[in-house]
Amino acid sequence: MGYEPGAHAVPGPLDPEVDAAATYLLEPEETAPLLARIVTSHEEGTRRVVAPATGHVLVDLPLSGPDDVTRAVDRARDAQVAWAATDVRERAAVLLRLHDHVLDHQSEVLDLIQRESGKSRASAFEEVADVAQVARHYGRRAAAYLEPRTVRGMLPLLTRTTVARLPVGVVGVISPWNYPLTLALADVLPALVAGNAVVLKPDPQTTLTALWAAAALEEAGLPDDVLQVVAGGGEVGAALVDEVDHIAFTGSTATGRVIASRAGERLIGATLELGGKNPLYVAADADLEVAALGAVRACFSNSGQLCMSIERLVLHEDVAEEFLELFLARVLALRLSPALDYTADVGSLTSSAQLARVETHVHDAIARGARILAGGVHRTDVGPLFYSPTVLADVPPHALCAQEETFGPVVSVVLVSSDDEAVTVMNETEHGLNASIWSRDTRRARALAARVRAGTVNVNDGYAAAWGSVAAPMGGFGASGQGRRHGREGIEACTEAQTVSVQRGVMSGASLDELFALPDGQGQRLLTGGLRLLRTLRLR
Ligand code: NAD
Repeated sequence: MGYEPGAHAVPGPLDPEVDAAATYLLEPEETAPLLARIVTSHEEGTRRVVAPATGHVLVDLPLSGPDDVTRAVDRARDAQVAWAATDVRERAAVLLRLHDHVLDHQSEVLDLIQRESGKSRASAFEEVADVAQVARHYGRRAAAYLEPRTVRGMLPLLTRTTVARLPVGVVGVISPWNYPLTLALADVLPALVAGNAVVLKPDPQTTLTALWAAAALEEAGLPDDVLQVVAGGGEVGAALVDEVDHIAFTGSTATGRVIASRAGERLIGATLELGGKNPLYVAADADLEVAALGAVRACFSNSGQLCMSIERLVLHEDVAEEFLELFLARVLALRLSPALDYTADVGSLTSSAQLARVETHVHDAIARGARILAGGVHRTDVGPLFYSPTVLADVPPHALCAQEETFGPVVSVVLVSSDDEAVTVMNETEHGLNASIWSRDTRRARALAARVRAGTVNVNDGYAAAWGSVAAPMGGFGASGQGRRHGREGIEACTEAQTVSVQRGVMSGASLDELFALPDGQGQRLLTGGLRLLRTLRLR
């Protein structure tokens, strides 16, 4: 590869104006009303939550225990009956009011998201916009999605068959720390509007944001007890899986497998949105300026802590050098800062475990012969968990970051000599969540997309176009998950299909029982003729 920037070129000046202590501290009067929403007997103690971007203590989070989970599910189960009996339009109206509330109070929740997760404000705003989109979509479309549909019955004209979607009952939602507002609500909203009650267990690092969302839903008119929040780590999540009628989980593939296995034993449904090792292909005919801009966002939004984030840049060799020059210039211009405003491009990592994972992946790649084109530095000068956006070249296939999800601001570059080779490289992973293709020829890009094993493929965009198309299903192939969120699939996932068939012709000689009761095989002969007729008439 020809392009050689300084090996230690590092993006991001610190904004010296940020008074982190003043802006990050949360007053007890701000947190107390939120914490009061946690279902807890206060027997499990508390967990100290620290702001990742600055290290300031935010809150001591009261934890729930297994008995609290049982209590939360029982309360939800009681409340669900009246909620399911409420007209679907009334349930949908709650979502539409939530839409307005989140937009109107965005600065409040943006501050909270940034404090708990360490992300930049621009990444936090993606969550506000997303929740508005999902709330509006299900607010407007839920009634149509849930409307019973009539299908062809067994006997034309005589059998009237309808399919209804009934709520499963109580849905459990286990959400992670990387998108604390979006991922707390993405599965909660369709579950609620379908007539379910929900018990939400957010990640302990970002529980305040989830509690803010619960308060916002109450403000929007959600009746008491229909949404319960329990607090804690994996043990609380596991207890929840044991009690609910459907589980929706977002997080690691390893935990997803454990949850799927338990859900299988209990014979409950599980929707699992897990990790990715997502590729972005720049074809030889791509608009390189636009692709470089899009690739920076796709790789480093939310400091790469995004399941759809790009971790592999697949470049056609004819344009690789020119693309990298444009891309690296943009990467090196990224500003890192904990500011609670829009001045920063990139925020902090969310935990020391994430920082350790990122550093392990980068050091391992370098030890195996990879080269750093940008970044590769723990930016303690900006905050305790900041890591510079990092671009690696010559990463051998057996390196950790070539195989496993890094979930951080690290991307490796791979060169290919054709579209066919690009497809092969893009599919060289057990994951299959998201992919991105950049080409001026969108017809060709669509044809390539059909050969990529990924649940979403974005053409001339990194991830937001498919994620934000909330009427379309979103989820993963292979180790990236099971089931889909968004659109019709997302609401059907937390319902049971019920088929009701009404047989006409009773007492008129044409009921099924009367037909089967005819002597000497007459009924069977009639049915045989009828089946032949249906085939001739091409009825389905
Ligand atoms: P995790 O999967 O362990 O945790 C995610 C959520 O699951 C948390 O709320 C956690 O409390 C809960 N949980 C953990 N064990 C559980 C169990 N046995 N039963 C029920 N719930 C359980 O993820 P993590 O430790 O926070 O992060 C590790 C890695 O996971 C990251 O490095 C990243 O690769 C991946 N991740 C992916 C996403 C995503 O959006 N797909 C989100 C977060 C993390």
